[in-house]
Amino acid sequence: MIEPSNKIEEVIVIGGGPAGLAACVYLARANLKPLLFAGSPPGGQLMLTSEVENYPGFDHILGPELVAKLRKHAQTFGTRIVDQNILKVFFSTSHHEVGTIDKTYAAKTILITTGAKALWLNLQSEQRLRGKGVSACATCDGFFFKNKVVAVIGGGDTAMEEALTLTKFAAKVYLIHRRDQFRASKIMQKRVLENPKIKVMWNTVVEEVLGENKIEGLKLATEKPETENRILKIDGLFLAIGHKPDTDLFKSAIELDGKGYIVTSDRYALEFAKSVSKETEVKLLIPKEKVTMYKDRFDLNWVSATSVKGVFAAGDCVDYQFRQAGTAVGMGIAAALEIERWLEIHNQ
Ligand SMILES: Cc1cc2nc3c(=O)[nH]c(=O)nc-3n(C[C@H](O)[C@H](O)[C@H](O)COP(=O)(O)OP(=O)(O)OC[C@H]3O[C@@H](n4cnc5c(N)ncnc54)[C@H](O)[C@@H]3O)c2cc1C
Repeated sequence: MIEPSNKIEEVIVIGGGPAGLAACVYLARANLKPLLFAGSPPGGQLMLTSEVENYPGFDHILGPELVAKLRKHAQTFGTRIVDQNILKVFFSTSHHEVGTIDKTYAAKTILITTGAKALWLNLQSEQRLRGKGVSACATCDGFFFKNKVVAVIGGGDTAMEEALTLTKFAAKVYLIHRRDQFRASKIMQKRVLENPKIKVMWNTVVEEVLGENKIEGLKLATEKPETENRILKIDGLFLAIGHKPDTDLFKSAIELDGKGYIVTSDRYALEFAKSVSKETEVKLLIPKEKVTMYKDRFDLNWVSATSVKGVFAAGDCVDYQFRQAGTAVGMGIAAALEIERWLEIHNQ
């Protein structure tokens, strides 16, 4: 049976990755006694990586170690952490409720920091070599492949960006795509096709990632039956076949964009500006008719507000673009400062 709670918290944070933990440092120091549902397993995407070399203040730290430090920091100032998933939410104008498997909690404000997941091919060999040459983030791991040969899998804008980023480090970049044309914008395709370091392999799929303790190559198959399977020797593989924000839970509660990312006020304002722009190459993430429809739903006084008053969002569940621990932390802090101000105004 689900047990209701009589207490109304000042703030409940859903998601215990860098964004949620950083927000809790600020919320706890502001004496708001945040209650953080960190998820199961907690810690977020950094738990899946080993070396992190681009988090300011640490020239080298292991992903799980960084999470442990953030978690301890949040707890030092009084954050209460529950390593459970929130399974249901009810957002209203007066207060909000969230439920775990066995209990319901109420709060004046909610911060959603449920993050995202990179999509993988789900080959057993790929999963085994994750962090051992197989990555889903060129900005994070490209530096480790100086003068090496790498491959990127994908055909959208992200794959183009990953391939171009890798040309700054690697000697050669293979861009493997299963179709005979890219889905990416024309401008990104042009940059890729004109880059002498990138070789595109059309109509090609990866059947196996080769290597015992580190990646050594790929077993490839082409769509054309007359071509035999072949081996491509590489030192690194980057998956760029998409990300899925962890936002299914909020589908009918707040506005999400076409890919499931949470729309916050600042993102809405940008989409609105793009929708009235005369530029031809702007890409809208919210359908044009919805941009106009949403007009009264976003309070532009708050950067990280969602379409429901008192519900805020930060980190990779909002950020379709940068997806870095540092940016998630920054967004979490901004949201925490806004929640503090929001409560000051509404508690009067
Ligand atoms: C393999 C890999 C390597 C990376 N390397 C780097 C790097 O070197 N440098 C860098 O800056 N960035 C790196 N990143 C990116 C970085 O990890 C993310 O940008 C960052 O973790 C995003 O933080 P977040 O808090 O927004 O979300 P996440 O880290 O995704 O955390 C979200 C948390 O919310 C929880 N959650 C989800 N749903 C619920 C729910 N219903 N109830 C409760 N909790 C829930 C999840 O379990 C998770 O713990 C890497 C990512 C990956 C995948």
